[in-house]
Amino acid sequence: MKIIKYPKREDWPGLLTRPVLNFKEIEASVSPILEEVQKHGDEGIRRLAERFDGVTLGDLAFSNKEIDDAEGQLDEALKEAIGQAYRNIYLFHQQQLTAPEKVETMPGVTCWRRSVGIEKVGIYIPGGTAPLFSTVLMLGIPAQIAGSKEIVLCTPSAHPAILYAAKLVGVTRAYRIGGAQAIAAMAYGTESVPQVYKIFGPGNQYVMAAKMLVSKEGMAIDMPAGPSEVAVYADETAVPDFVASDLLSQAEHGKDSQVLLVSTSVSFVEAVNRCLMEQLEALPRKDMASISIDNSTAVVVAHADEAIAMLNEYAAEHLILCVENAEEVSERIVNAGSIFLGNYTPESCGDYASGTNHTLPTNGYARAYSGVSVDSFVKKITVQHISQQGLLNLGPLVEVMAEAESLQAHKRAVSVRLKQMNEYNEK
Ligand code: NAD
Repeated sequence: MKIIKYPKREDWPGLLTRPVLNFKEIEASVSPILEEVQKHGDEGIRRLAERFDGVTLGDLAFSNKEIDDAEGQLDEALKEAIGQAYRNIYLFHQQQLTAPEKVETMPGVTCWRRSVGIEKVGIYIPGGTAPLFSTVLMLGIPAQIAGSKEIVLCTPSAHPAILYAAKLVGVTRAYRIGGAQAIAAMAYGTESVPQVYKIFGPGNQYVMAAKMLVSKEGMAIDMPAGPSEVAVYADETAVPDFVASDLLSQAEHGKDSQVLLVSTSVSFVEAVNRCLMEQLEALPRKDMASISIDNSTAVVVAHADEAIAMLNEYAAEHLILCVENAEEVSERIVNAGSIFLGNYTPESCGDYASGTNHTLPTNGYARAYSGVSVDSFVKKITVQHISQQGLLNLGPLVEVMAEAESLQAHKRAVSVRLKQMNEYNEK
């Protein structure tokens, strides 16, 4: 990891730049995949699976038997862990569903807002290099709580833990389809895959480009996302070995993942770098992690204020604060996807089982986007009721405003009612 000491403020943007993806090039290879699925449906998907995954697909859907049998293929410890993660994530997300409150804005004028689950949602579960069954929980549980009626899952992996988790969260149909073709299938619908109203989930650059392309055509997606990233802000109260392990836990995601370490101590940063090199040697995904570590930076700054300003400018997907008064420092963070406090809160716990969601905005999008939550799976429908007295109170104001906007029909919709009420009262 490169160590940069006391950089000038004008050099920050260069230091904090993410690895650049050549999106134009990826889009050019993904567009024909979308077209193939749109034109040829299931047959197109089968051809693409042979080409990109080297598999011959028969039935695209996993059968009920395959899903039921998955449980028997998992050992008890993993089933128990998934069960506890399910309960923690459910508990945390359940609090996000708020009951509608009726508000009387003027006497006789009542407004409220109902949350309604998006009826048909599609969730993509990456499976090219690792079977991410934790993502089934992270997307399926909020969909379940929101009350989505149809939850369609696509993944290139047939790992039993993915199928077991799919059953737990109430997935209605699961398909063995990966990559951009999975996104196309859920966006356009095919003979076997139903079209959905919103698509969720992380994935590699092809999956992401497909999501961006279908969103340009009007499909709702959870958020623009890119390679995973973590920033750690640590001082002398942190344990270098722990910090190194957090940096590597993100670096092993993919070779385009990025990690950033910020500290006010040169000796601490050097200690972390030594631990990092030692731990890297023992990792099975060493090759992948080494590339992302090579693209990553440790920055030494002079003051805590500078560190906080830098972290807010970077807007990390995951931010670990291993500093004295971490909670106080966290109150000053305005741009981050998810924050982890103290020496004993590794990011891995949030990735799997503490309760928070791991589908988070990357690439600086945390400046304006939140991570996935129950809100992502609901629409808010507003409702209002105005009594006759309410219209007598509110109507005249609306008449004045509609007149000023030269919208006579709008004005008339009020006037005609006020007139009828006045005539009735005069009788
Ligand atoms: P994946 O399921 O995303 O992609 C695999 C699919 O890619 C294959 O099924 C194949 O059809 C397609 N593909 C492969 N090569 C192709 C090519 N040349 N052209 C077109 N399509 C091709 O699995 P993955 O590859 O292991 O990637 C997982 C990604 O998910 C990683 O980049 C990881 O960082 C990311 N991730 C992100 C988050 C997050 O919250 N941001 C969470 C977990 C994982």
